[in-house]
Parts: sequence; C-alpha cells; structure tokens
Amino acid sequence: SKEDGRGTIRFFEPEMDKRLRERHAIQQDLQSAIARGELELYYQPQATIGGGIIGFEALLRWHHPSRGLIPPMTFIPIAEESGLIVRIGEWVLREACREAATWPIPLQVAVNLSPVQFRHGDLQALVHTVLLESGLAAGRLELEITEGVLIADFGRAVSVLRRLKALGVRIAMDDFGTGYSSLSYLQAFPFDKIKIDQSFISNLEHNHQSAAIVRAVVSLAHGLGLPVIAEGVESSAQLEFLTRETVDEVQGYLLGRPYPIKHYAGMIGHQPDA
Ligand code: C2E
Ligand code: CA
Ligand code: CA
Ligand code: CA
Repeated sequence: SKEDGRGTIRFFEPEMDKRLRERHAIQQDLQSAIARGELELYYQPQATIGGGIIGFEALLRWHHPSRGLIPPMTFIPIAEESGLIVRIGEWVLREACREAATWPIPLQVAVNLSPVQFRHGDLQALVHTVLLESGLAAGRLELEITEGVLIADFGRAVSVLRRLKALGVRIAMDDFGTGYSSLSYLQAFPFDKIKIDQSFISNLEHNHQSAAIVRAVVSLAHGLGLPVIAEGVESSAQLEFLTRETVDEVQGYLLGRPYPIKHYAGMIGHQPDA
C-alpha cells in the first residue's frame, strides 16, 4: 500500500543522511591525516611456493584519532571520490620505497595504485623521482594495479604503464578474475605477474568452480609466460592445492599477516634487538 511505501522512505531517509554526513566527516579528517602522521604502512610477506621470501606488499592503515583503526576498504573509496587518493598514493609510494631502501636484504616491495592516480598527474615522473630520492633500485618495486585502471581510459593507461615499465619497475595485475574483461587486457598489456583474487582461494576447498578457475588462470598465465601469485592463502590445504597446480608465489595469513615492518625485522635482514 501507499502507506507502506511512505513508511519505507521515511525509514531510510535519516539513515542515508547519517551515512552521507559520516562520509563527509571521514573525508574532512582524511584531508589532514598525512600532515598529522595518522597514516601507516603495514607489510605482508610474499613468498615462493617453496617458502622463500620474495618481498612484501605495503598495505595502508589509518589511525583515526577518535574512530581508531579505519580499514582501507572504508576510506580508500572516499579518498578516490574526493581525489585525495592522489596525495595519499604519493605518500604511500614514497614511504614504501624509503622503507624498502633500508632493508639489508634487497627484497621487493609491492605498492597498490588506484585507477585515479592514473588519471591525474604524471605517474611516471612521480615514480622516477621517488626511486631517485629513495635510492631504491627500480627492479625492487612492483606496482599492483586492478583492471579498473584499464577500464577508464584504456589508451592512456597503457601508455602510462609502458612508461612505468621502461623505468624498470614491474607491474602486477591484482584481483585477477573478479572483473569482466581481464582476458583481453592480458593480451593488450605486458604484465609481469598475475595475482589470483583471494575469493577463489578462500572457496577452494568447498567449491569445484573455484578450483577450476584457479587451474584455468594458472594455465592461461603460464601459457603467456607470466608467473602467478595467489593471495589470501590461509590454510595448508590451500597451499597444497596451489603447489599441485604449480602456482608460483603465495601471500596470506598462513605465511604472515600485514604488520608494521618491525614485526618482520628478521626477514629483511635486521639483527634482532639485543
Ligand atoms: P588488496 O590489494 O587485494 O589487498 C589484499 C587484502 O587482503 C588486504 O586487505 C590484506 O590484508 C588482506 N589479506 C591478506 N592475506 C589475507 C588472508 O589470508 N585472508 C584474508 N581474509 N585477507 C587477507 P587490506 O589491507 O584491508 O586492504 C584492502 C584493500 O585496500 C586492498 O586490497 C587494496 O585494494 C586497498 N589498499 C590497501 N592499501 C592501499 C594503498 O596503499 N593504495 C591503494 N590504492 N589501495 C590500497
Ligand atoms: Ca594488492
Ligand atoms: Ca588483491
Ligand atoms: Ca582485493
């Protein structure tokens, strides 16, 4: 009835309003988060399937003064919508390269890039500058991109990616299998690595389709000469499956959660504190 309809609208309006105000408040606070030193990078290990450490993925954390730790899934979309991700992404890149350059063992560091960073500013110039500033060898930096980068402006994205590769950094395709046109992108751009999305890994044991997809992605990637990393590996049963399927590298809670780098001091070659 009409009354039910109106009742529903009246119920949702204040809720929507509250969410919008919350979003706005988070966006305002995010504007000063860098200056106030509230952002931090956590690092999660990436290893060969045999267990040899390759490097770490840098994952952003925001320590909000009153809300506590806000997950990236909450604030990154807001940062992208408002354009703040450009400055935040620049901070992430600087911080990750500065940190990795101090590691006694020259492991790689993987940094996530937002599609918005491709549309604004000169990404190639930024990466070039940051590598020079930090002294990090280009070959130790891997940039993780999602297919969203290629969807918005394919021609521009491909030319930026080519220029990035020319610097000597590697490009990994993140969250592979979750989008719509990943296959054609693989042909159009020379990626260095394919990252199978964690949703397929978490379903492995209970879902035949996921196992079939993992198998197909590995076969496709290897056919193109690309190594495959599986993310979100939590159990030894998953690791065994991935080993049988000849996945090259793994990342996930089984190996280590994202933590401040001091948690992994031994892995990067720092002597433990006396
Ligand atoms: P992502 O790039 O796909 O990162 C993987 C996410 O899975 C991370 O969540 C990581 O903590 C989580 N993860 C790792 N291993 C496991 C596991 O074994 N099980 C489960 N359940 N989860 C696992 P996080 O750190 O919350 O980041 C979420 C997303 O936020 C990232 O997804 C990425 O899209 C975005 N993000 C994080 N840091 C940055 C950044 O510096 N820049 C940009 N643009 N995006 C970022
Ligand atoms: Ca990633
Ligand atoms: Ca991912
Ligand atoms: Ca993801």
